[in-house]
Amino acid sequence: MTLPTPVDNQTAFDLDRAHVFHSWSAQGALAPLVIAGGSGTVLWDYEGNRYLDFASQLVNVNIGHSHPAVVAAIAEQAKVLATIAPSNAVLPRGEAAARIIERAPEGFHKVFFTNGGADANENAIRMARLYTGRDKVLSTYRSYHGNTGSAIVSTGDWRRVPNEYARGHVHFFGPYLYRSEFWATTPEEEGARALHHLRRVIESEGPASIAAILLESVPGTAGVMIPPPGYLAGVRALADEFGIVLILDEVMAGFGRTGRWFAFEGYDVVPDLITFAKGVNSGYVPIGGVIISDPIAAHFDERVFPGGLTYSGHPLAAASIVATLDTMAAEGIVEHAAMIGTDVLGPALAQLGADHPLVGEVRGEGVFWVLELVADPATREPVSAEMMARIKKELLARGILPFTMDNRIHVVPPCTVSPDEVATAVAAMDEVLTLVE
Ligand code: PLP
Repeated sequence: MTLPTPVDNQTAFDLDRAHVFHSWSAQGALAPLVIAGGSGTVLWDYEGNRYLDFASQLVNVNIGHSHPAVVAAIAEQAKVLATIAPSNAVLPRGEAAARIIERAPEGFHKVFFTNGGADANENAIRMARLYTGRDKVLSTYRSYHGNTGSAIVSTGDWRRVPNEYARGHVHFFGPYLYRSEFWATTPEEEGARALHHLRRVIESEGPASIAAILLESVPGTAGVMIPPPGYLAGVRALADEFGIVLILDEVMAGFGRTGRWFAFEGYDVVPDLITFAKGVNSGYVPIGGVIISDPIAAHFDERVFPGGLTYSGHPLAAASIVATLDTMAAEGIVEHAAMIGTDVLGPALAQLGADHPLVGEVRGEGVFWVLELVADPATREPVSAEMMARIKKELLARGILPFTMDNRIHVVPPCTVSPDEVATAVAAMDEVLTLVE
């Protein structure tokens, strides 16, 4: 077909609706937002409408859109070698692994590359099962680990309730003080009771049947639940006591989002396997992986790891990791995200919380925040889906692209977001909350 010049939004929209089958959606009434390009925090369509991307797409564009250093690295690599089988040794793949290992804790020296986050968890689970000779995987209700075989049955959010296919997977309740399952009234109490609950689940399931505990360091899609003091260290202690592999899923929380390279660095815990994707290269080319601690890596020195993907450690993705991590270090992007969280975004969202009864709770750190909206602050009844749809529409009309989920606005701009962009977005949220209240 011939495209009109200039290309308009309608053409892109019509082609999409004619032929693209979308994820997580009933196809009939879909009206996807048309996007033509982006730079930094800003996206635009074909007709000059501009949006501040306060979703970082699916909370992955940590370095911002179209960073020239990363774009150039991909283009350069494509000219030299665009693809190669995972069995070869190629420089960008080794360099990408080395850059990741530089940021990992002591005792991690190997990276297994995947195509994204779900298959990172998939392979981490497989490693844990082979390493322990056990089968069950424990993970939390209110989690998201990806949408492939083991990853989706590990997932415990609304998309998997009831979790009827989760054989070999057992769920437990993690800490979430605002809607405590444990009648706790302080973060410390919530953490301690969640740990007691986890111990009881482990004992009741039979420790000798449990291969892994899989947790997001900071559960993201399920609501940015900051772990209470001592909780993750307590999970580590339980894993050690019962010989269980601890997998921390850093797919969303890792590589700058919390204002640290890895989210778990803030919580006095070191896992056995770390899964990553998204922020490692801001999704410019699909990639993810598992960072493997030495004892588990050594287990596979003499034993075949029965897994592999044609595009594992794809050269374009690997080159983009090197450029992303080097640029983030050179430009102090992780430190910037931490500063934005403490000095700019955190205080501004706290003020929104104080000003609007609709905001039940504000949680977060770095550029990883959520506003939990309630119809009634006393009962904490979530606002309706209609209200959320209206809020989303009004924010879009003001040029703010939000990430909304259930009764929450996830405020998750790129790590590079400027204080002025935060001020613009928060002013729009203030206006919209006032409008709908
Ligand atoms: N793990 C976490 C914590 C995630 O947030 C996601 C995606 O949102 C995934 C895993 C799955 O990653 P992907 O969509 O790249 O498969």
